[in-house]
Order: sequence, then C-alpha cells, then structure tokens
Amino acid sequence: MPFLTEPEPERGIASPIMAGLRRIVAPNPGPMTYHGTNTFLIDPSEHDGRGVIVLDPGPDSAAHVAAILAATGGKVALILLSHTHSDHLGATAALRAATSAPVAAFHTPLVPEFIPDIRLADGDEIAGFVALHTPGHAADHLCFAWRDGVLFSADHVMAWSTSIVSPPGGDMAAYFASLRLLLGRPDTLYLPGHGPALPDPHPYVRDLLAHRMARENAIAEALQRGPASTHRLMETLYSQLDPMLRRAAERNVLAHLMKLEVEGRVRRAGDVWRAAA
Ligand SMILES: [Zn+2]
Repeated sequence: MPFLTEPEPERGIASPIMAGLRRIVAPNPGPMTYHGTNTFLIDPSEHDGRGVIVLDPGPDSAAHVAAILAATGGKVALILLSHTHSDHLGATAALRAATSAPVAAFHTPLVPEFIPDIRLADGDEIAGFVALHTPGHAADHLCFAWRDGVLFSADHVMAWSTSIVSPPGGDMAAYFASLRLLLGRPDTLYLPGHGPALPDPHPYVRDLLAHRMARENAIAEALQRGPASTHRLMETLYSQLDPMLRRAAERNVLAHLMKLEVEGRVRRAGDVWRAAA
C-alpha cells in the first residue's frame, strides 16, 4: 500500500489546513493512532453558526480539551463525532460541558452510555456538512462531506495505514461496501481521523479494496490446505512482530472469516475454521 507519512506535529497547537479549517493533533500517539487523533476546527466564517465546529473531540485528555478551548476561545457552536471509539469520543463529555455545544453523531451509537444531542442518519445535512454512514471500521461510523470536494474520512480511510475492522463493532462486508460508496462519490481530498490528508483518493481506495480482497483470498486458500484457528491464520498471513499490531491483525482476520462465513465459503466449528465443501 502506498501509505503517506507526516512529521510529528507541534503539540497543543491548532495548525491551519486550509482557509477556515485548523487541526489539533491529540497527545495520544501509538501504533493504532499514529501521531494522535486529528481534531478539526471549522471557523464560524464557514457556516452560519456563532462559534467553531469541532469535528472529533479526541481522547479523554485534559490537555487536549484545554488546547481545543484555547484555540476556539471556548466558543464552540457544534461538535461533530465520526464514531464512538474512545480516541474520538473520549473528550466529548468534557468539551460539551465546557461549551454547552450540542453533539451530533450517528443516531444509534455503539456506546450506549453516549447520548447524542443530534442524531444523524445517512445523508443528513448539518452546518454545511453531509453525514455519510460508512460502517465497517465501526458500525456507527460517519464520514462528513464538506465543501470543495473535501471529505472528512475519519477512520474509514486513512492515508497512513489501513483501518482495523474488529468484530462485532467492525464488519468486513460493511467495510467493503463503504469503500465502494466512496468510490461512487466525487470527493477529491480526504481528511482522515489520524495522519495526513489524502489527495486524489480514488486510486488509494481502490488499492485498499484490492489489498483486502487479496487478503480474503489468501485466507480462503489457506483453509483449502486444512482447517486452522483465527490465530494460526494470522500467524500464517502476517509477519509483523509488534504485539499490538498482531492483535489488530487477528481481529482483521476474524472479520474476513466472518464475511466468508456469511458468504458460505468457510465454516466454523468452535475455534477452528475450515473451507466449506
Ligand atoms: Zn481513531
């Protein structure tokens, strides 16, 4: 995969991305989060509101909330949430409490304790954005289409890495469908939830699909040679040694297996998977 990288960003600072749009990278770097979660700030000039729109508050970090409040002067009109994984949702309650801004998110969050003020469905328009339900990485995942071909792709499509698809919140068949949904749209620049912007995104999204289809075929072929557990298949197919990445890889393999099971290509018996006869 032709991944993109970027230098470590300055911490606690809102940096301009383009006119009317800034980004603060949260202090949660890691093998799953790159330099940290991207919190985007959309200036009031870009919409009809009286304050800044915050897209993805980020992880539960007092320093990060303080950075958002400093960069917005505490004047936040709306909080948009891409999905309820903790590295995006974590700071939401504190930011909502500090600013009284309503939170808009998918109508049925994966985290039942989280109650959105505004429940978004696929295609809903809000403050100049169009919410696109893009399940796969998470069942409640939204991308937000903005002006001038810009799409906030969150963790559905990221330039620095593939996405984790971890059942039960993650679903590989849904992920494939959500990638194809983006290929049917004319967006020209993706701003992901982690890492750098992705220009000319369609060839990259096609590569993501091809990469997953190759992985799926490799799993199906491995099972033609004999039954195996999810863990054994991961060890056969992935060479990376980082323990956290290996756990993530095993979740991806499980997601592929569950998709193949629904399609009638593999069967499960306890811990062991085998090719369907
Ligand atoms: Zn994330």
